Amino acid sequence: MGKVLVIGAGGVASVAIHKICQNDEFFTEVCIATRTKEKADAIKEKLQGKTKTVITTEQVDADNVEELTALIEKVKPEAVLNLALPYQDLTIMDACLATKTHYIDTANYEPEDTAKFEYKWQWDYMDRYKEAGITGLLGSGFDPGVTSVFTAYALKHYFDEIHYIDILDCNAGDHGYPFATNFNPEINIREVSAKGSYWENGEWVETEPLEIKRKYNFPEIGEKDMYLLHHEELESLGLHVPGIKRIRFFMTFGESYLTYLKCLENVGMTSIEPIEFEGKEIIPLQFLTAVLPDPSSLGPRTVGKTNIGCIFQGVKNGEEKTLYIYNVCDHQEAYAEVGSQAVSYTTGVPAMIGTMLVMNGKWERPGVYTVEEFDPDPFMDALNTWGLPWTVVENPELVD
Ligand code: NDP
Repeated sequence: MGKVLVIGAGGVASVAIHKICQNDEFFTEVCIATRTKEKADAIKEKLQGKTKTVITTEQVDADNVEELTALIEKVKPEAVLNLALPYQDLTIMDACLATKTHYIDTANYEPEDTAKFEYKWQWDYMDRYKEAGITGLLGSGFDPGVTSVFTAYALKHYFDEIHYIDILDCNAGDHGYPFATNFNPEINIREVSAKGSYWENGEWVETEPLEIKRKYNFPEIGEKDMYLLHHEELESLGLHVPGIKRIRFFMTFGESYLTYLKCLENVGMTSIEPIEFEGKEIIPLQFLTAVLPDPSSLGPRTVGKTNIGCIFQGVKNGEEKTLYIYNVCDHQEAYAEVGSQAVSYTTGVPAMIGTMLVMNGKWERPGVYTVEEFDPDPFMDALNTWGLPWTVVENPELVD
């Protein structure tokens, strides 16, 4: 039973709010606050009358701590679910601190002018959150999020030690556009065009962007090309999985997507360096984001499935063993249920679950934590209940 304030009204927020409203025995009230209030009103319009959850909307500039603090004081939620962009993580964390309110997000902080994300900035809040008696739950999406919960679950039930983790993110959805991204284009392109890296023997090994390519035969999808990327859960899992030797993250990309991306890069359209245009300063990547299809409009057009999961290698009772835990999500089924494609769906569902577990006390712990630091069992059960069932396979095909 409780009230949550959701910040943002984009693709992921829309799914999380649908799920909050499905879970109306628990979430009695939700307030949706975002920069463009009409977007919050549109979500409310869709859901009102179909749920017992009371829905209200507000306008907020989430870059402004005073505005956020005043909003939280007015709404008085038990938790704030941040589904705006990674640039707003710290301002929202500050406002939660000022009002002693729990904080949950799905992506770690990234300064707007540097394409670099890491947990350091948010882990710095540990002592202040402890003193305030509030929980900061970081990265409760799918990856990061569910992938880290899969790891905690594998460690709890299947392994004494995990030595190697390969996180595989396959999106085999087809939206029919020559080029579009499935979540915020600016964040997505920054992630893909950055240098890759993986965690090995306690150190980062850096690669050129998309330098390492592998093929994998994904259950329910088939063989796809995938590329090694830097990803945020590598940083926290590297610290929290005892005995870990290597963690890598791979994402699938089609040839057409990469050709378009290369071309856009070559002409300077993915740059985050400001340029002067007709007397005004603009950032090329932000301009590109404005002309690309809005990810929330891809839902009705996208067919196919996603498969995201982790392959573990380690030991149990002195024997070597391997295990694969994954979820398959169908774009059209997600769209039929909540009006969004599977990439938003697979992020919005765990965002709701993480918020519920903080609010119902199961994952409440003063301080700032990533999801693998909590008992994975209630989260894994909730994934089955709320639309992201998972599969465990022993002796899977490995990535070389
Ligand atoms: P969208 O761009 O669709 O939505 C972002 C929302 O935040 C919009 O409603 C936007 O408002 C709002 N917003 C942005 N800046 C501000 C601001 N300063 N003040 C108030 N509101 C603001 O993004 P997505 O829904 O695709 O992604 C949301 C988050 O989820 C991102 O942080 C993304 O990185 C993360 N994510 C995490 C994944 C995971 O698995 N862990 C996977 C996919 C995404 P407006 O509409 O007015 O611009």
